[in-house]
Amino acid sequence: MFSPRIPGALAALTATVVLSATIGYGIPVAAAATSAPARPGAQSAGDRLFAYLGNGGYDVDSYDVRYDYRPGTMKMDASVGITATATQALSSFSLDSAVEKVIGVTVAGHPAGFRVSGQKLLITPRRALPRGRSFRTDISFRVDRDDNPQSPAFPSDEKPHRTAWVNTKDGFSLMGQPDRTHLFFPGNDHPGDKAKVTFRITTPKDLQAAANGTLRSRTEKAGRITYTFTTRGPIPTHVVQAAVGRFTLIKGRGPHGLPLRSYVATDQAAKARLLVDDIPDQMAWLEKQIGPYPYETYGVLGVPEGYQGVALETATMSTYAAENLTGTNNEGKVTKEDTQDDRITMVHELAHQYFGDAVSVRDWDQMWISEGHAEFYQVLYGSEKGYRDLNDPGRGLRARYDFDGDKRIESGPPGRMTHARDVLVGTNTGGLLMLFGLREMVGKTTFQRIEKTFFNEFRGRSATTRDYIKVANRVSGKNLTGYINGWMYDARTPPMPGHPDWKPKG
Ligand SMILES: [Zn+2]
Repeated sequence: MFSPRIPGALAALTATVVLSATIGYGIPVAAAATSAPARPGAQSAGDRLFAYLGNGGYDVDSYDVRYDYRPGTMKMDASVGITATATQALSSFSLDSAVEKVIGVTVAGHPAGFRVSGQKLLITPRRALPRGRSFRTDISFRVDRDDNPQSPAFPSDEKPHRTAWVNTKDGFSLMGQPDRTHLFFPGNDHPGDKAKVTFRITTPKDLQAAANGTLRSRTEKAGRITYTFTTRGPIPTHVVQAAVGRFTLIKGRGPHGLPLRSYVATDQAAKARLLVDDIPDQMAWLEKQIGPYPYETYGVLGVPEGYQGVALETATMSTYAAENLTGTNNEGKVTKEDTQDDRITMVHELAHQYFGDAVSVRDWDQMWISEGHAEFYQVLYGSEKGYRDLNDPGRGLRARYDFDGDKRIESGPPGRMTHARDVLVGTNTGGLLMLFGLREMVGKTTFQRIEKTFFNEFRGRSATTRDYIKVANRVSGKNLTGYINGWMYDARTPPMPGHPDWKPKG
């Protein structure tokens, strides 16, 4: 996520930071003889910050989500088909779910028992699922886009600063981060379990749908259009996106001929053209730093309402308020500074496609891997393009260093934050500074080798601080364990390499 409260206006920061197959059911005789008895899957992924989130006993391979969008109602008929692999013999399993109503559940095509308890959907298949089996479960349900329950991880007296269902005059978009995607469809809503995602969205003829991945088909039936989008690779649940509205499609080509497609709210599309056309340059710059862009397509989604002041790294298609793609100030005038600010935000979200999306966090205590990298490349880009001065007293690195001191006291260190709500923006500064310090210690060339190696080894997977340390030590030939752990876990801001005169506050 990007919030201008982080890098831009430091003064404001101290305020609130705010399934395939048809599985045969019979357990093979040989397997049955040797395998453990089937038991229920765990109803938690064991996340320290989001204890209620995620589920055990299986690993999701794909989601196939269908929405039927009709103007004039906030309700949508929906379904999801989930292909998963059992990682234990399962007598029953759970999914995270906060949809309005679950209507029916099948497992391998047979009706299954189900029950909703809090934000869990508990499913009991007709027969136990053997360990190692791929299985499919199909769930029909209904959503109410007016229903935006508070995350259990946020203090109950604190209003969420955004709703998960972002409703607009002509449709909607999604804001699932960090733990709200199970309002959109039942699933294993934890970043440690990535999966391919398909959205099939039916709309009236005069509206359009946009979603993660590539448009595979557009079919018309009885005056309505069904759009089918699929991602080629796995993505974490908190960065899914599906939107309906009046969008203008802007196509282009990225590095190596990569297909680009952006959907921008039609009334802003002409004004957004300049920045949308800048995407290939931004991608080329990031490819030099980290390596080849990880997905089959890229682009931006510019929504008409609801994303003001934030942007989200939705996989293959980052989401912004359309007006934040136009380089305009509060009065709607295009300025050089606003254009530069918008470009910097775009690079932040593009960097998240590498770190956060392709390399996801194993659990929410690893969030600096996502936000620290996005912030680092945003700042480096701003500096290399001459948009920002790293020594700027107001928002250069020294100001971020001082901010880190306050932030640790308020929120805890980046690798062990006190409150779950801080995952959204709480690790950006600590991660940014650790990476700049590392670059200072090992030199630019070695730093880049560490980054490229880490990305290559963990793309398509999820990673931890320990994984990063192992790569950094191996590639540099140095022992960087104490340095990196200090930035992630110390109560006080560590010394800044290259700046012995900087003293931590607090
Ligand atoms: Zn971010």
